[in-house]
Amino acid sequence: MSSHHHGSIAYAVEMSIIDCHAHLGDPVFDGDRAEVLARAREVGVTGVVTVGETLEDAERNLRLAGEHTEILPAAGLYPTHLDEQQAGLLERLIRENRERLVAIGEVGLDHWKVKDEGDREVQRQIFTRFVRLSLELDLPLNIHSRSAGRHAIAVLLELGARRVQLHAFDGKPSSALPAVEAGYLFSIPPSIVRSRQKQKLVQRLPLSCLLLETDSPVLGAVPGGRNEPAEVRVSLKAIAELQGRSEEEVAEAVSQNAHRLFGDLPVWPRTA
Ligand SMILES: [Zn+2]
Repeated sequence: MSSHHHGSIAYAVEMSIIDCHAHLGDPVFDGDRAEVLARAREVGVTGVVTVGETLEDAERNLRLAGEHTEILPAAGLYPTHLDEQQAGLLERLIRENRERLVAIGEVGLDHWKVKDEGDREVQRQIFTRFVRLSLELDLPLNIHSRSAGRHAIAVLLELGARRVQLHAFDGKPSSALPAVEAGYLFSIPPSIVRSRQKQKLVQRLPLSCLLLETDSPVLGAVPGGRNEPAEVRVSLKAIAELQGRSEEEVAEAVSQNAHRLFGDLPVWPRTA
């Protein structure tokens, strides 16, 4: 009796869905974080990239990752925080925790809230610092670019950023195309069901550059409600419908895309 099974499915990378941008450290999850993660697992979510906005968030994300295996910690400075000193402290934390972090984020540009040209220049300097750190440490960037999509992409291309995720991109498909050509990825939140702009984006972009995210606790399908990682299924279904594909095909593609961006994640399921 042969015990060899060449080409068996056991050798294939198993499919696993990653919520590529969420704020699971937010205190609104303090009462039921384990239940929230259990609901996510039920729909196939094996990892949640948990971004931070401050130094305090980064420290909390690292602590939570020690308590919940699904939490994949990231560290960054939200682009409206024009704080060079905190940026420096975060840079140090990121260097010291390089092996535990899965991404730098969220970082980027925000021209929605920051209007003053001088302030925008400070924002750009801080962003540049994190892009350079991403290249030096070979860590992916998890990017916020509200009302500044074109500008953020220009900075990234100019600096030669390689591992890039643009989260909840609010620009036009034509602004996104240079990023697609550079191999950057776009994560799609459940709010796509109520955003004509995001629907147009998904209709125009190739499946090979899409990821799922929730931005929990915000950007859910229903405005104002608490969003959670299990809701990636809303994004998945919307992408399948808009691109005329099966949900299985989209699930497999976004899993591979996440794997391409993040590499072997600590929780990436491996067959025994
Ligand atoms: Zn966010």
